[in-house]
Amino acid sequence: MHKAVKSQVDWTALREDFPILRERVNGHPLIYFDSAASSQKPASVLDVVRNYYEHENANVHRGLHALSARATEHYEKSRQRVADFIGAKSADEIIFTRGTTESINLVAQTWGPKFLRAGDVILLTEMEHHSNLVPWQLLSERIGAQLRFVPVRDDGTLALEKFSSLLTPEVKLFAFTHVSNSLGTINPVAELCAKAKNIGAATLVDAAQSIGHMPVNVQEIGCDFLAFSGHKMCAPTGIGALYGRFDVLDAMPPYQGGGEMIVSVTLEKSTFKKPPQRFEAGTPSIAGAIGLGAAVDYLEGIGRGEIFKHDVDLTQYALERMKEVPGLRVLGTAKEHAGAISFVMDAAHPHDLTTFADRYGLAMRGGHHCNQPLMRRFGVTGSTRASFYLYNTREEIDRMVEILQKAANFFK
Ligand code: PLP
Repeated sequence: MHKAVKSQVDWTALREDFPILRERVNGHPLIYFDSAASSQKPASVLDVVRNYYEHENANVHRGLHALSARATEHYEKSRQRVADFIGAKSADEIIFTRGTTESINLVAQTWGPKFLRAGDVILLTEMEHHSNLVPWQLLSERIGAQLRFVPVRDDGTLALEKFSSLLTPEVKLFAFTHVSNSLGTINPVAELCAKAKNIGAATLVDAAQSIGHMPVNVQEIGCDFLAFSGHKMCAPTGIGALYGRFDVLDAMPPYQGGGEMIVSVTLEKSTFKKPPQRFEAGTPSIAGAIGLGAAVDYLEGIGRGEIFKHDVDLTQYALERMKEVPGLRVLGTAKEHAGAISFVMDAAHPHDLTTFADRYGLAMRGGHHCNQPLMRRFGVTGSTRASFYLYNTREEIDRMVEILQKAANFFK
């Protein structure tokens, strides 16, 4: 049996930081194994958001009054915290967005039309979340670019032996995920970015599943863009960020037009601010950004290296224990495996299995996980996914296995 790793962190005591974990669901203690969809929030993040509305609430960058100054200072401090969190050279390389989806769309709608031409190739992988696929489909239809895909092997890893032949000079962008949201596979991001850079392609890393779970440093990765969502890393919904190398951002046209992103406006024409303001039209999610800063503080207090070890420990333990469940098949067996496990049970549709588990207070996700092409690749229409985070425990996994065993009996 996989041995528990020793850690400085008291993972059980840490659960107290998350008020929602006291909830009961259908008469059972909540077991929340759906953090890959959205994580729970610690009290420190909730407090900061409440404090903003109680003591600082005003619009940013506009007012000449005290509250606006407080809100602006707090908002910009969060930008600096996010920059430090990912090793960006400057806070000006951080654009606040609604999340990963908006960050990728921003690049597809601004950088894309300016730097890509008909016949250029956008290289993606077969394991991309729809957020890192559909925006590129829309762009390629618009400008006549082509999409190409790195295939996924049976074990859920990328077929890297095909990478060199796919990475031809026509490839102008390689956009790919750090961690697969369905399979949990961790991709060798730095190595892939270096190869793409060698042929002059720009790189975009979808860090939605890695940012809150493991150390992520844009200098070490060597990417041009990195996209992530706050709500998957203990922050509120409606906030996330796009990192872009400053020279790359500075060469991009605005995303949306409106207040705050202009230098001057006449009835005919406008001029625009430098990044990041150029890309933040309108009133942003101020409370969200402040909450994101607090989430960064919270995760830094524990250490993403520790969180990663904890995730891996739970995953290895779960993978072993799940072998005891009859008729259960795990999709993707990559050695480099983060805290998400997708599985199917011969006798039960993923929706039925996930609903069955919910009766016992176990929250998982059932369906295609916004990964329809990947599900098709594995010959299924969907799967059930258990995903773990810092507040989960081995005892909860034991309980999950009990519930899955009940399900195996029920559906046979
Ligand atoms: N990319 C990956 C790998 C994801 O897992 C997700 C969300 O599940 C997204 C992108 C989209 O994130 P959001 O819906 O927060 O924009």
